[in-house]
Amino acid sequence: MQYSSALLESVITELTRLPGVGRKSAQRIAFHLLRSSEGDAKKLAQAILDLKARVEDCRICGNVTETQPCAICADSRRDASILCVVEQPMDVLAIERTGEFRGSYHVLKGSLSPIDGIGPEQLKLAELIERVKAGGVAEVIVATNPTAQGEATALYIARLLQSVPHLRVTRIARGVPMGSDLEFSDQVTLARAMSGRKEI
Ligand SMILES: [Zn+2]
Repeated sequence: MQYSSALLESVITELTRLPGVGRKSAQRIAFHLLRSSEGDAKKLAQAILDLKARVEDCRICGNVTETQPCAICADSRRDASILCVVEQPMDVLAIERTGEFRGSYHVLKGSLSPIDGIGPEQLKLAELIERVKAGGVAEVIVATNPTAQGEATALYIARLLQSVPHLRVTRIARGVPMGSDLEFSDQVTLARAMSGRKEI
């Protein structure tokens, strides 16, 4: 074995399974954890356990939450007639950071990507239609990422909802650089993209 400790090796192996963590980073983190105090290590372990035990999807919008429904869906000051459709909960955070949007959200949990086997059934599209058909929605803002998959998803949603009477379906403007993820856009760019949205 490359290392003197099988336990250390096991932590490194687990860390390399995390997104963006290569072998080198995993080793650095594992040795850092080994040197850190028992209290700090326990805090990290407990935080991960709590995350798994207590954070779930909002039954209405699909955002991450510890309460049902989430704080946004439960907030009566938010405008439930405007639904902003995003790919991931991280996108909700990005749009909330702009402080400009006072509507509600719908998290798809991904975007259409036939190559990766992600079709309409793998996304929360049926739930979206259900919410729109329940009434009270005047506008659906499609804020999927400006990537090929995000654009394909936006078009799919527009087609899906085109028969719903008195519904505006809009797409955020191209202020967000093509090919990038919403979550990495700066607040001003994202706010501008939201206000410059156009009907699709
Ligand atoms: Zn919610």
